[in-house]
Amino acid sequence: MPATMEQDIVETPQLAAQWARIRGRLQQEFGEVEYRTWLRQMTLVGIDGDEITVHLPTRFLRDWVRSRYGDRINTLWHEENPAVRRVDIRFGQTTGPISGAPDGLAESLAPALAPPLPISRGRERSGEPRSELNAALDPRFTFDGFVVGKPNEFAYACARRVAEKPSSAGFNPLFLYGGVGLGKTHLMHAIAWELTTAREANGAYPVTVAYMSAEKFMYRFITALRSQSTLEFKEQHRSVDVLMVDDLQFLIGKDNTQEEFFHTFNALVDDGKQIVVSADKSPSDLSGLEDRLRTRLSCGMVADLHATTYELRISILEAKAQLAGVPVPDKVMEFLAHKITSNVRELEGALNRLLAQANLFGRPVTLETTQEVLHDILKAYERRVSIDEIQRKVAEHYNMRLTDMFSARRARNVARPRQVAMYLAKQLTSRSLPEIGRKFGNRDHTTVMHAVSRVNQLIEVDPAFAEDVELLRRMLEGAP
Ligand code: ADP
Ligand code: MG
Repeated sequence: MPATMEQDIVETPQLAAQWARIRGRLQQEFGEVEYRTWLRQMTLVGIDGDEITVHLPTRFLRDWVRSRYGDRINTLWHEENPAVRRVDIRFGQTTGPISGAPDGLAESLAPALAPPLPISRGRERSGEPRSELNAALDPRFTFDGFVVGKPNEFAYACARRVAEKPSSAGFNPLFLYGGVGLGKTHLMHAIAWELTTAREANGAYPVTVAYMSAEKFMYRFITALRSQSTLEFKEQHRSVDVLMVDDLQFLIGKDNTQEEFFHTFNALVDDGKQIVVSADKSPSDLSGLEDRLRTRLSCGMVADLHATTYELRISILEAKAQLAGVPVPDKVMEFLAHKITSNVRELEGALNRLLAQANLFGRPVTLETTQEVLHDILKAYERRVSIDEIQRKVAEHYNMRLTDMFSARRARNVARPRQVAMYLAKQLTSRSLPEIGRKFGNRDHTTVMHAVSRVNQLIEVDPAFAEDVELLRRMLEGAP
């Protein structure tokens, strides 16, 4: 579309509100570092028919955002506004102001960051795409690029095993789970690379792999339903050798899609095909999953990716800095590994930003430049405590199982700590009551409200209890 036509595109207030919500979601899902670095500069141009146009100020940013976030942005738009079928992410100046461009990040960043290849080149690497079901694989997500440590060695070993010998007894399905940014997608891509490109390079017959997010699966299914082509959908999905579905938790509450997935799953397993699935929780903790699906998902290998340890964070930083070819002093790595503890994605985001800055201005990386460049992130970090962390610490403190934070059990020794955790979530995070409720096994916001007032009452009348809560609060706020 020529640039002059853009004036015809109208931006309604409703659209702006939808866009604001989508940005909020992106920020939440990808974390502060990543959002600030890549996504904040997106501006909405408008809607034209069923197509939304979004602008980014540089070609580099556009490619990066397209390849890494394109699918997700598409899905979020479609969820917000079912009329939207396509999101066009473009590069170019918009007439409106570009919101909050940070640190003059520009095209010149490219060399420091080794951005993922754009989708078409990703495919060239593996020859023709094996199947149109395949989402583009990130060329950095290989086994070689995965740093192994205590928290992820089991999941890594399972993934390796499946990549070597798909459909072995005991490893089918492979269910990978763990918190956000801990390497689930990385391992899944690594399996896919190994089964396609690597096999081919070794002269072995490549297998057909379909890798997709659960949302994509759902989106395809719904589209097939609409266009009455479900038979084709079924045939397509049941004809692959390996089916990988990432972030299965998105199917919760989507009963029809779950049902379809269940049938696809059975058809494939009965045929001796391999399934690999990831989710943010274990099958038994994924509430809202159909029981029969849960049972089938648990009957192969279930492997979790634990939160990173300090040692693993250091190893990852070392590996990534070496790959980028920029010398990073030990002190800086220690500093980062101490400060940025939530997940690998955030850690990587911070390091990338540091490396980009070093490349851009030719300044060596030092502790001072690190503090300067990452000033905003570090500050945000200091104040930020996650609900997951609150639940973990509180469960630990009261000696109860973490799963009871989400369970329906109402025994006092479980219910009270849960209330404390809800109270602290309200105090220490900016989450709303309904959001907090959802994080506690999908409880209602009134339950959270009740918990907050109950804890407040108890603090008034029970000094020992008050001290306990205060201790927990300080521990959480002071956590590195
Ligand atoms: P998840 O899917 O669990 O949310 P990802 O697989 O997308 O997480 O990982 C987030 C980022 O962190 C990716 O860039 C990935 O390459 C990187 N990463 C995660 N774990 C490791 C690891 N052990 N070694 C190297 N990189 C990692
Ligand atoms: Mg993922």
